[in-house]
Amino acid sequence: MKMYFKCLLLFLVGAFFPLDAALGWSQPHLAITRAALEVLPAWQQKVLGDEMPRLADDYCLIPDHVFTDPENAKFAMMESKPKEKYLLNLHLPAQQLEDLQTIRYFMGKAVASLQAQNVKDGARYMGTICHQIEDYGSPSHTMPGDNMFTLLGQFLPPSEVMRDQLLHGPVESGSLIVGIRDYKPALLGTTVDEAAWRLMHRIYEGIINARSTTIPIIQALYAEDPKTVEVQQLKAATFDATVVADALYTMLSLGTRSNLELEESVEGAALKRTSIGKFFPLEAVSLYYPQAQFFSSPHWGHARSGVVLAEGKRAMPLKLQVNEDGSLKEREFSNGISAGMGRSLTFLLPQGVYSRFKVLAGLHPELGALGKVEFTVSGDGKVLGSAVVGGTDPAHIFECELVGISQLQLSLSAKGGEAKSNYAIWADPVLLKP
Ligand SMILES: [Zn+2]
Repeated sequence: MKMYFKCLLLFLVGAFFPLDAALGWSQPHLAITRAALEVLPAWQQKVLGDEMPRLADDYCLIPDHVFTDPENAKFAMMESKPKEKYLLNLHLPAQQLEDLQTIRYFMGKAVASLQAQNVKDGARYMGTICHQIEDYGSPSHTMPGDNMFTLLGQFLPPSEVMRDQLLHGPVESGSLIVGIRDYKPALLGTTVDEAAWRLMHRIYEGIINARSTTIPIIQALYAEDPKTVEVQQLKAATFDATVVADALYTMLSLGTRSNLELEESVEGAALKRTSIGKFFPLEAVSLYYPQAQFFSSPHWGHARSGVVLAEGKRAMPLKLQVNEDGSLKEREFSNGISAGMGRSLTFLLPQGVYSRFKVLAGLHPELGALGKVEFTVSGDGKVLGSAVVGGTDPAHIFECELVGISQLQLSLSAKGGEAKSNYAIWADPVLLKP
């Protein structure tokens, strides 16, 4: 009965919107946006007023409807790209810099419209951001360069039923009911620059979450198991809804409250320091570390967030020796990165937000006792600080000025110790506001 109802519903939807509904994550866009709107505080829902239902019923699809809805198409276009009516970057991730520019642009437009008390335009721009978040976090947008899964199909040969179908649509189409009732949306920044940058990293978490659903969905499609397809799609959609909620909450906050007011709020104060140990460096181009990022010496393991890999296979907690009250003590860190020699990790920074960078740098006391490494922190190609640390030395504390810097780079090089012991750790990397 329930299935019949769904089929009927799909048939009706298909009859009215033959093209769009047949392709893509259409209904899930609406369900995810609605779930996010439901958890906004009452004062924000009031600001949205009549535009609130439209965001969930219509505006979150603006980037897909640019050719059929000319009136709203401009809300999904960039002034710097006047010829690109269909902005691919609103549907698929590109490079980090381009992603950030796109998010920054539409967030800026939404906030400026809200500040001018033009809620109508603001809601339309917010719809475009919702779409981007939802598309990036869709199970069928997860494979770089293989949007239709024609390559993946070679690794996972299709069933008889699916043999001649492109998988993109089946992987994401469905009729979902999404709810995140207990979720409290987070403020992502006290300025648009900060919020866009942090939103990008939230969206990237969503991509990784969605990637974990793609293959189970394809296997369930082959097995003609719609229940599992839906469970996995919901796993992606539910996470996406939390990201959309953060984005909407932040845009509505930025658009209706002053920067000072936000900075002085409890949430704003918590943003004064930001740990970047789990953020994505530029080297992880498609959000994974490529082989070139493997440790060069010792030739095992690869850069990892939160752990160090002993002999490339055993994750151990990040530890450093630190100077505390004049004596050496071992301390464990949950926020940090282990990395290899001769490789750099580069972090894109938002403009005009942070003034200082702090990090502890040294070798793991058990694994790295015989090593010796030079740690270098650079900003836009200029060295901001460097230190040579031996395996039995205490961690070096870097505290660097960041004013005007847009790319922060952490680099390592071997300095003549036992190469196999160069287990280098960047612990507690934090960006600080003035
Ligand atoms: Zn799309």
